[in-house]
Amino acid sequence: MEEKPILKIGDRVEQMCLTCGEERGHIIASMTKTGKVTRVSCPKCGSRVPYKSGTTRRASNKVGAPYETTRTYRRGQTIMHPSFGEGEVTAIIEPGKMDVLFADRMRRLIHSHAQAA
Ligand SMILES: [Zn+2]
Repeated sequence: MEEKPILKIGDRVEQMCLTCGEERGHIIASMTKTGKVTRVSCPKCGSRVPYKSGTTRRASNKVGAPYETTRTYRRGQTIMHPSFGEGEVTAIIEPGKMDVLFADRMRRLIHSHAQAA
C-alpha cells in the first residue's frame, strides 16, 4: 500500500543528522508553497539542515516524553500530556514556558526552567 503523507511544518521526517551522525526524525522547519520540505531541524542537537528529498518517511509510533512540570523540554520535542495527548514543543517562550502543538490546538504550558535558553 502506497502512502502519500501530507506533511506540514512541525511534522517529523526521517533524515540523517550529520551533527549527531545518525538517522532520526527531524522536525520540518520550513516548506515551499507547494508543500515541498526545504529545511528540517534535528530535535536532539537543534541543527537546522536542508531537507534531502527522497527519504520522506513519517516517523510514526514515537512515544513522546511524559509531560511533567518538573522536566525541561526543548523545541521540537514530542511530549505526552495526560489530558491533551501527544504534542510537539514548537517554541520555548521564556524559561519555564513553552508552546506545545496538540492535535486540536496550541497550548502554552509551563515546564522546568532549570535549563536557561
Ligand atoms: Zn542532530
